[in-house]
Amino acid sequence: MSNLNPIYFDHVSSTPVHPEVLKTLQEFYPIHYANAEALHDGGKVIGTMVEASREQVAKLLKVKPEWVTFTSGATEANNAIIKGIAFANAHRGKHMITTSVEHSSVLDTYKQLEEDFGFEVTYLPVDSNGRIRPEDLKQALRPDTILVSIMHVNNEIGTVMPVETCVKIIRDHSKAYFHTDEVQAIGKVPFDLSYVDAASLSAHKINGVKGSGVMILKPGVKILSLISGGQQENGRRGGTANAIHNLLFGKTLRLALDDQQNHIASVTALNQRLRQHLRQMPNVVINSPETEVSPFILNFSVLNLTSEVLLNWFNAHGIYLSAQSTCNSKQHHPSITLSAMKVGTKRLNGALRVGLSALNTPDEIDRLVAVLQEGVAKYGRP
Ligand code: PMP
Repeated sequence: MSNLNPIYFDHVSSTPVHPEVLKTLQEFYPIHYANAEALHDGGKVIGTMVEASREQVAKLLKVKPEWVTFTSGATEANNAIIKGIAFANAHRGKHMITTSVEHSSVLDTYKQLEEDFGFEVTYLPVDSNGRIRPEDLKQALRPDTILVSIMHVNNEIGTVMPVETCVKIIRDHSKAYFHTDEVQAIGKVPFDLSYVDAASLSAHKINGVKGSGVMILKPGVKILSLISGGQQENGRRGGTANAIHNLLFGKTLRLALDDQQNHIASVTALNQRLRQHLRQMPNVVINSPETEVSPFILNFSVLNLTSEVLLNWFNAHGIYLSAQSTCNSKQHHPSITLSAMKVGTKRLNGALRVGLSALNTPDEIDRLVAVLQEGVAKYGRP
């Protein structure tokens, strides 16, 4: 372990809780323990605050409060949307479409529907920038396609997907619903939920608490509730709600969106600085695209070293980053996105993902580069 303060470059994986969110959490937790559904005043007070948070979320996302369901995170939201729509619409068709580079909470859900419930799933391929081609989507759509899921921003390399173009194609050529995973987009790139049928968000990626998310569902979307068992969340999600987390979501989102422009500006500068350094290093290839990309994610490969050696080296120097999606980090298979991009073995094995935030500094970027150069000089294959 390094004696220096750790440098955190894993903000794609999770982020520190915003001090204002933490303050409210600490203030509310000991006193607002009543069940938000209870009819006494204790319940009403917290219930009212949760509804205020729902209204705030709706206003900030430009949707209606009734479309907002609080969940335990985006993994639950993705599961609830995809399985819920699949089960409620199976009589219309059993074909579904997604991309080959989704987060595992989407990919594994589709695989389960395919393997255990007889649905047929088309996984759209990606180009060398990790981006799907709208023509492929057009060709894949069928009269029995009931749902298309396309993430807005890829969580491994940052590619922004052409979601608006895709929605037009879906509307013009099918009756399928459109779902998007907005987890890495909200607060990081411009978004517009007016054209989606369903979307998923997570609090801990935008300086909120873990175990907190939102699913957006437009009226008219036929969906089966994944969690039965109560009147909570308009019957869409049973179980005693984590009211404190739900009321914090509104504040978390407001803070993220209030500061969005400043965050984008400072992170873009950090991203450029890192790219400039990396471009000068032999044996380094930048995997994130140059354009149509989130500045918050910079993925690159060191061709003469493995990710594992580099991660250990960085960790020993107090620098935290990752090689791929953290939800797959212990499964010993290479990055889903880079595999789908069909990059060569060396690029696949030597990939690193830097998750930037406005809390990072130019000095930290320079330290990252210096430690990288040292590691390559020490361990790099000739
Ligand atoms: N989708 C994407 C794109 C993600 O990056 C993540 C976080 N790893 C998730 C979904 C899952 O979010 P949560 O941690 O809230 O379940």
